[in-house]
Amino acid sequence: MATITNINGTSDTDCRCGSWLNHWFNYNGGQSLPTYCSAPKCIKKDLVGAHVQKANSIDKEWYIVPLCQEHNKYTSDLVIPEFVNFAPASKKKTCER
Ligand SMILES: [Zn+2]
Ligand SMILES: [Zn+2]
Repeated sequence: MATITNINGTSDTDCRCGSWLNHWFNYNGGQSLPTYCSAPKCIKKDLVGAHVQKANSIDKEWYIVPLCQEHNKYTSDLVIPEFVNFAPASKKKTCER
């Protein structure tokens, strides 16, 4: 399990991938697009690429993970399964390198 914190109010609305969900797909390291939200027991399919940070971690990088619209607005920490890959949110490290 990995605990994540949503980064709310990011002005970064998109990137060269077309959407942050596509960005996650392109840079997560090979995982295919999930059918459902990454949050446990959530079966919503309206996925977006959510900006998150790893909670309780010295790693303060921003990442993208697939979440539903509702969980993307979630303000508390969220625990997601270990198998969900993180894609770096930094465009300079990915699509705008
Ligand atoms: Zn991108
Ligand atoms: Zn959800």
